Amino acid sequence: MKKILLVEDEENIIFAVKRYLENTGYTVLSAPTLSQAKTCLQNDLDLILLDLNLPDGDGFAFLDLVREKSSIPIICLTVRDSDGDIIRGLDSGADDYITKPFKLPVLKARIETVLRRVKKDPEFQSILQSDGVTLDKNLKKVFIDQREEELSLKEFQLLCLFMENPGRTLTRELIIDLVWGLESDFVYDNTLSVNIRRLRHKLGHYQNKIQTVRGIGYRWIEGEMPR
Ligand code: CA
Repeated sequence: MKKILLVEDEENIIFAVKRYLENTGYTVLSAPTLSQAKTCLQNDLDLILLDLNLPDGDGFAFLDLVREKSSIPIICLTVRDSDGDIIRGLDSGADDYITKPFKLPVLKARIETVLRRVKKDPEFQSILQSDGVTLDKNLKKVFIDQREEELSLKEFQLLCLFMENPGRTLTRELIIDLVWGLESDFVYDNTLSVNIRRLRHKLGHYQNKIQTVRGIGYRWIEGEMPR
């Protein structure tokens, strides 16, 4: 049975989420403070639901702490709905970000999506596939409907990053950091846009799989038929 840690201080939410998830087959541990949440980390957790405003501090600190030592999936669950907070959460390694109020079935669906993604662990697969797009990490080749497509190094790295994180919103800052690395200080703001445009062009009728998340970044859409 999947074990979820709910870091949350609002009684009503703890009660509702715990009851709902336990009825649908999860084990839920709850921690109303960051210090209690830390003591729960020894458990073999499958996922953490993290409120950001807690009585003894800021959930972001806990997010950083967890990310330093593990890749356990984290979903932020919070009333903070500013772009800044969402970007900060995703950049700090949260797998998803849900703003309150939320509906329990939606929460469950988002949890399942994250868990499914983790199970497939695309980072450790050498061949990634999404509809008719195939990327071979070892051979550094990309095939669109079985036909090989020549990509520049940056286009290849971008596509690889997207395909390793299907469904996840990647912020512009994070993408530039990961793809341009040490050169990222010298990357012009439109460099990313230009590379995305070229990559979309090469994806042909799969170009809509790269979705623009306005003001934030981009997301790779899994399992949707091209137009
Ligand atoms: Ca709270």
